Amino acid sequence: MKIDIIQGDITHEKTDAIVNAANPALAGGGGVDGAIHRAAGYDLYEECRQIVHKTGECKPGFAVLTKGYNLLCRYIIHAVGPVWRGGNNGEEEILLNCYRNILALAIETGIKSIAIPNISTGIYGFPKKKAANIVGTYFKNPAEEQPSVEYIRFVCFDEENYLLYKNEFA
Ligand code: ADP
Repeated sequence: MKIDIIQGDITHEKTDAIVNAANPALAGGGGVDGAIHRAAGYDLYEECRQIVHKTGECKPGFAVLTKGYNLLCRYIIHAVGPVWRGGNNGEEEILLNCYRNILALAIETGIKSIAIPNISTGIYGFPKKKAANIVGTYFKNPAEEQPSVEYIRFVCFDEENYLLYKNEFA
């Protein structure tokens, strides 16, 4: 599994799938979620609405798949990260589960390349250094998953995350 770390806007990525840092209602919103919904177009809202209608909200730590619509990627993996509430509410395990479920969904779907943002480190307030460490520890050794995924591109929006990831994967 090849890993790259770049600084940029994930809506420009051409990987098979991009990951969205979604909220449980899959309703769009601020940050990367808003940017992805704006770029993908109205049909994405509609598919998300139908998923929630059928299966309910997406719980923190889980992920669901939609099409990419007007984006350059074929799929969007919407992962719901934990809201940081001081660290004693399972936040770290929930964030790790996000990444596990992203990879599981990608493997199940035959997705070979994925662009991933820094889930939970914006509005949800997860400490960036701690999040980068969780991501690094997992992706340097994804263990049992035996990934058929060939390429992961971590797309950091802000310089702080970019430098933390560079350091983590150095
Ligand atoms: P969360 O609610 O999971 O914290 P946010 O969207 O607020 O989600 O932030 C998650 C991360 O996504 C933050 O590090 C933020 O800087 C980053 N981000 C915001 N916009 C974009 C974008 N267009 N492309 C990639 N990352 C983005």
